[in-house]
Amino acid sequence: APIIELDDVRKTYLAGSLSVDALRGITLRVDEGDYLAVMGPSGSGKSTLMHILGCLDVPTSGTYLLSGEDVGSLGEARLAEIRNRRIGFVFQQFNLLPSMTAWRNVELPLMYAGVHRDERKERAVAALESVGLGNRVDHRPGELSGGQQQRVSVARALVTEPSLLLADEPTGNLDSASTEDILGLFDELHAQGRTIVVITHEHEVAARSARAMLIRDGELYAADPMDAATTHGV
Ligand code: ADP
Ligand code: ADP
Repeated sequence: APIIELDDVRKTYLAGSLSVDALRGITLRVDEGDYLAVMGPSGSGKSTLMHILGCLDVPTSGTYLLSGEDVGSLGEARLAEIRNRRIGFVFQQFNLLPSMTAWRNVELPLMYAGVHRDERKERAVAALESVGLGNRVDHRPGELSGGQQQRVSVARALVTEPSLLLADEPTGNLDSASTEDILGLFDELHAQGRTIVVITHEHEVAARSARAMLIRDGELYAADPMDAATTHGV
C-alpha cells in the first residue's frame, strides 16, 4: 500500500519580486516497507522536499497523499497532529533536550499526543530497548556517544508508531563508526517492515538504501543506490 503519493508537486518561494521554483513537478510513490534515499547537491530542493514530506510545509501546486489523505488541503492544527502521530523525524543535530534523560526525551511525542503517564514510560523504555539502548534509559544525552544519541532520537521518532520514518541527514553529525551503527539500525528497521525515507548527500548512506532518487534543480530522477553518486557526480 502506498504511504506517500506525490503527484506533480511544485513549490515556489516568493521573496519580494523574486520567485524561486524549488520543486518543479515531483511525482513520487513510496510504498509501505520501502527504504528510499533522496540525494542531491546543495540548493537542489532536498530541504523543501523534506519539509513537504514531513508536513512542515505544503505544496504550491500538485497533491500529496499521506496514507491516502490529501495533506495539502489540511489546516495547521491537523498538520501538526499528523506530524506528531504519523511521521517520525530524525535530524542531523539529534534535537535532544540535554537536561532530560533518554526515556524522558523519548516520551515527549507521547506527551504531545496526550498519552497517559504510566503508558508513556513503558512505551519510551520499550522504544529504547528496540534500538538497543535498554541499558541507557536513565542517561542524559551528554553521557552518550553521538551514535547512541542518534539512536535515542530514532527511538523518539518511533515511539508513536508512525507510518513513516523521515530522516534528514541522519549521519551528517556522526563519525564513520557511528554512521555505520545508525545505518545498521536502519537496516534492522527496514527488515522489520518500517517505511524509511532518508535525505542525504552522503553516498555511503544512499548505497545502503533499497532505492535511491536524485534531486537536481527541483526535479527527481531514479538512480541506482550503488552508483547514484559516481555516475551523476553529486
Ligand atoms: P537543499 O536542501 O537541497 O540545499 P533547498 O530546498 O533548501 O535545497 O532550496 C532549494 C531552492 O529554493 C534553492 O534555490 C534555495 O535558495 C531556495 N529556497 C529555499 N528556501 C527558500 C525560502 N524560504 N525563500 C526563498 N528561496 C528559498
Ligand atoms: P535544518 O535542516 O534547517 O538545519 P532541522 O533539520 O533541525 O533544520 O529541522 C528541519 C525542520 O524541522 C525545521 O523547520 C524545524 O523547525 C523542524 N523541526 C525540528 N524539530 C522538529 C520536531 N521534533 N518535530 C517537528 N518538526 C521539527
